[in-house]
Amino acid sequence: MKPWIENLLSLQSLDMELRGIETRIATFPSEKARITAEVKASEAKVLAARNDLQALQLKIKNTEGQAAAVQEEVQKLRIQSGAIKKNNEYQAMLSVISAKEEEQSALETEALSLMDGVAPLQEKLASEEKRHASVVKNLREEVAELKEYAETLKQKYKETKSLRDAHEQSVNQNALEIYKRLMADKKGEALVPVTDGSCGFCSLKLTPQTINNAKRGDITLCDNCSRMIYIPDQM
Ligand SMILES: [Zn+2]
Repeated sequence: MKPWIENLLSLQSLDMELRGIETRIATFPSEKARITAEVKASEAKVLAARNDLQALQLKIKNTEGQAAAVQEEVQKLRIQSGAIKKNNEYQAMLSVISAKEEEQSALETEALSLMDGVAPLQEKLASEEKRHASVVKNLREEVAELKEYAETLKQKYKETKSLRDAHEQSVNQNALEIYKRLMADKKGEALVPVTDGSCGFCSLKLTPQTINNAKRGDITLCDNCSRMIYIPDQM
């Protein structure tokens, strides 16, 4: 193989490495967004459990409040009943009091049965909080790993880039110009081998003339896709 081909292949391999690192770095924002979304979703479950518990506690408080208000009414009616002289009015009052007492008792029973639901909701909240803490811990570790990895990649990129830039000096200028133009579209490689008489990029058959040029070691472009082609050394 001609030196310009060997040099350009080395440059290309460094460029492909850089491209790989860039691709990997480009995924970091979406990974960070995914982690943020996971934390939020996990937090939402804790909030939902807390809301359920608070809603139940409020309902109990209201029911108890209603029961207490009815009890107060009963006491007032009892006092009022002492002043009633007519028997029929007194009987009527007693039945009102009895109905109110039933109402109070029903409210108290309701409050008690609502209270049975508190412990399960407290347990649910505690377990959600525990689960959330472990999710956050894991995701924090993931973020730390991601940061470390990003640093490693940045460092690797810097090193590879300076190696690449130094190497560029040794590449044939004409070939380098074409190479840079071809690499700009970021679709695969610019310098591809001829395999079985076909272009290694677009796979189309090359004309005998083109293959002869490549065999001579001239800078040769594929007839179809205009990639630079070369004849690999026989194994
Ligand atoms: Zn081609």
